[in-house]
Amino acid sequence: MSGNKTLTMIKPFAVQKAYIGPILAKINEAGFKIIAMKYLQLSLEQAKSFYEVHKERPFYNDLVTFMSSGPIIAAILEKDNAVEEYRKLIGATDPAKSAQGTIRALYGTSLEKNAVHGSDSDENAIIESDFFFSKIERLF
Ligand code: ADP
Ligand code: MG
Repeated sequence: MSGNKTLTMIKPFAVQKAYIGPILAKINEAGFKIIAMKYLQLSLEQAKSFYEVHKERPFYNDLVTFMSSGPIIAAILEKDNAVEEYRKLIGATDPAKSAQGTIRALYGTSLEKNAVHGSDSDENAIIESDFFFSKIERLF
């Protein structure tokens, strides 16, 4: 059975461009419940740790530098089949290839600055949620 939680981040460039409000509105309109949320800036070490699975990829250094360059929003979202439903809402990794109306198509500006993160599996949703949030920082 698929899980009902996913982890999102609103990435630095989208925060700087004042897209927090519009993106959270899209998330709510799509029927996701926000069960944890915080505003923070990752250190370079923390960004490296979050994206550890990508450490062999050519874009890794740029990505972790970008992700630690300014404040972000991290949130745990709840909905049936959350991982897949949220990836549908955000669209493809490259905003230029994201379906019309998706969050990345609307608010992403490049492959790297694609506005938001979304977990890619139930297992990673749990790992990523635990990365940002302790037990008392979430609704249950
Ligand atoms: P997604 O975020 O859609 O799950 P990935 O997990 O493959 O995509 O990649 C993580 C993040 O790394 C992407 O959201 C994007 O910001 C960045 N990224 C992925 N591929 C590239 C690339 N070819 N060049 C630059 N940045 C990339
Ligand atoms: Mg991914």
